[in-house]
Amino acid sequence: MIDIHCHILPGIDDGAQTVEESLKMALEAEKEGIRTIIATPHLNSHYNNRKPSILEKVVELNRALVEASISIEILVGQEPRIYGELVEDYEKNEIQTLNHSQYLFIEFPTNHVPRYTEKLLYDLQVKGLMPIIVHPERNSELIERPELLHNLVEKGALTQVTASSLCGYFGKKIKSFSMQLIEANLTHFIASDAHNTNNRSFKMSEAFDFIDEKYGSDFVYLFKENAELLISGKNIMKEIPVQIKKKKKFLFF
Ligand code: FE
Repeated sequence: MIDIHCHILPGIDDGAQTVEESLKMALEAEKEGIRTIIATPHLNSHYNNRKPSILEKVVELNRALVEASISIEILVGQEPRIYGELVEDYEKNEIQTLNHSQYLFIEFPTNHVPRYTEKLLYDLQVKGLMPIIVHPERNSELIERPELLHNLVEKGALTQVTASSLCGYFGKKIKSFSMQLIEANLTHFIASDAHNTNNRSFKMSEAFDFIDEKYGSDFVYLFKENAELLISGKNIMKEIPVQIKKKKKFLFF
């Protein structure tokens, strides 16, 4: 199994703080059946992780994993928070795609979707990149207005739902929105976004057990295969998205 979203690199964001913590995370991932992890450190107003430094850290961690006899391979990635100059910085070689593919993570602010998002995602696609919106299920504006996400997906954006969201660790509302995203073909990847082994761990096998039980093995295959296709830079599998129907409030009375 491949995990395409993980804060496993030590000491550079709010994920693992030391190599020991990184190795602890890797051991837990190994137990869940994960063999490949894309390290996706934050690029935002708190953490300034740019392309060259990320690659260096990945090489170091892979060396430590070999020494510790842990069968996990770390690939390079990044989780940039959306900002106006993203395309310019990509051209300056500061933005790292996922395993050097055409796929690029984009994180939205927690509470809203900036007005320039559609234009920016379009500009990235013009450059040949495939933007993947990370954890849309945790964005409060998208929860309120899922048609915004539908519009972005229709225009070529991809999305990644977090395993622990689907398992209910972020609450009922986020779990149910995660399920709606799967049911409406509005998500293409399941990943851990693991930060540690305590309160933000992998939950990948739990999420896939849930998907298998609820939606069947075809969905498990789709999400696992898409992660494989992503790391080899191939086109992923996707279905035509449908609109999420808002639950009618009067039904609860
Ligand atoms: Fe993340």
